[in-house]
Amino acid sequence: MAECIAVYPGSFDPVTNGHLDLIKRGLELFNQLIVAVVSNPAKQSFFLLEDRLEMLRESTREYAGRVVIDSFDGLLVHYLDKKGVHVILRGLRAVSDFEYEFEMALTNRRLCDKAETIFMAPSEEYIFLRASLVREIAMLDGDVSTFVPPNVKRRLCDRCQMIHGQKNRFNKNVTISI
Ligand code: ADP
Repeated sequence: MAECIAVYPGSFDPVTNGHLDLIKRGLELFNQLIVAVVSNPAKQSFFLLEDRLEMLRESTREYAGRVVIDSFDGLLVHYLDKKGVHVILRGLRAVSDFEYEFEMALTNRRLCDKAETIFMAPSEEYIFLRASLVREIAMLDGDVSTFVPPNVKRRLCDRCQMIHGQKNRFNKNVTISI
């Protein structure tokens, strides 16, 4: 493979064991992965961008040097161009991911004909794992130990407590997207 670096983009809100499984698998194919967190100020996220980056840094420490944590806004193809990388790594969990991912891959290639998307399947245990599900379980006080690493679990507990506190203080009128 001529190109040895790939960009793995996503919201990582927060990073889950599924994302980490994909990073580990990606490093079998690429020398370096740039994990690029989407920063979209127009879209409300559960965690602030800085927190999402920090959790990723903490969770990928063992790959020091081979995994770079970064963020971007705007079009992914512009970010790829800036980095001089043309390979995008994405995860395919189930058939339900396929249509969206296929559309994105072809759209990115339409925008930049050098952009190639590589899809990888996670370990079977992570097939149904998505960050939104983890957030919902955490908000309902469920145990997320098997879905996220311990550092993320701690931050999820803190964030949920904060949100519950805000909801109580403001008479349950606060809408927070999970
Ligand atoms: P999510 O769908 O969990 O909110 P992101 O938007 O952060 O995730 O997704 C970034 C990329 O990681 C996408 O390609 C997505 O398919 C992939 N991904 C997310 N969770 C998993 C998982 N459990 N297994 C494999 N790939 C995953």
